[in-house]
Amino acid sequence: MVVRVKNEIKIDESFYKVEEIRQLTNETFSVRLPKARFRFRAGQHISLSIQGDYQSREYSIYSGENDENLEVLVKEVQGGYFTPKLRKLKPGALVEVHGPFGKFRIDENYRDTHKHIFIASGTGIAPFRSMVRTYPELDYTLIHGVRQGDEAYDRHEYADGRYIQCTSRDKQGDYHGRLTGYLKEAQFPTDSRFYLCGNSDMIFDALEILKEKGFERDQIHCEVYF
Ligand SMILES: Cc1cc2nc3c(=O)[nH]c(=O)nc-3n(C[C@H](O)[C@H](O)[C@H](O)COP(=O)(O)OP(=O)(O)OC[C@H]3O[C@@H](n4cnc5c(N)ncnc54)[C@H](O)[C@@H]3O)c2cc1C
Repeated sequence: MVVRVKNEIKIDESFYKVEEIRQLTNETFSVRLPKARFRFRAGQHISLSIQGDYQSREYSIYSGENDENLEVLVKEVQGGYFTPKLRKLKPGALVEVHGPFGKFRIDENYRDTHKHIFIASGTGIAPFRSMVRTYPELDYTLIHGVRQGDEAYDRHEYADGRYIQCTSRDKQGDYHGRLTGYLKEAQFPTDSRFYLCGNSDMIFDALEILKEKGFERDQIHCEVYF
């Protein structure tokens, strides 16, 4: 909200100036904001709107808890209402941020002792990058389902052997085929902690596969985007 105080314009604390729109692929970009006083836990999401626009959308936080910027990773949805406008913003544009929201966070009871299996489709990788940046000692494997090899957003940040890209439309990935195909073939320690994030079809299928492999529902956390 913009409040007029006498002749000055005071900008509400929930408004942030865009620092950078970082284009990662033709369709996917990140929005970098100053972190200011914003506090969150890795895995949580924010609600974002553009100044002067009445609609808002939710985005997982892509940056780590201790990073200098607050960053989100966004896929431009063709024909979508919000994402084409967001992508066109220039540095200095104002966006409104609310949150943080959500309980999709690393369970501290298992954080230092258990293997974490992160399962993401597309931009569903966002909360996992935040977790990995926040907890560098975490024992994890990140399984990322995308269409093409160029969708391995910031892959170089993950230590060797921790990031497994599954590509369904080209052969550039570590695994050629759908993420669910990889999950069926893979073996995980029986006490692994699973975190699933992305579209509901992937999450539903992955839950079924993990159930068939004998994992309990309370070992599995989910964040559904759409
Ligand atoms: C908790 C939560 C966290 C989220 N975090 C992220 C995130 O980190 N990054 C991100 O890109 N999105 C994220 N989303 C989805 C996001 O909130 C919007 O739905 C998305 O950006 C589309 O907005 P739009 O206005 O352009 O499309 P709309 O006009 O709202 O929708 C158009 C259609 O696109 C579908 N759609 C939505 N997202 C996608 C997608 N990624 N790929 C293909 N189709 C899609 C919708 O189901 C709808 O049918 C999250 C959603 C939730 C609930």
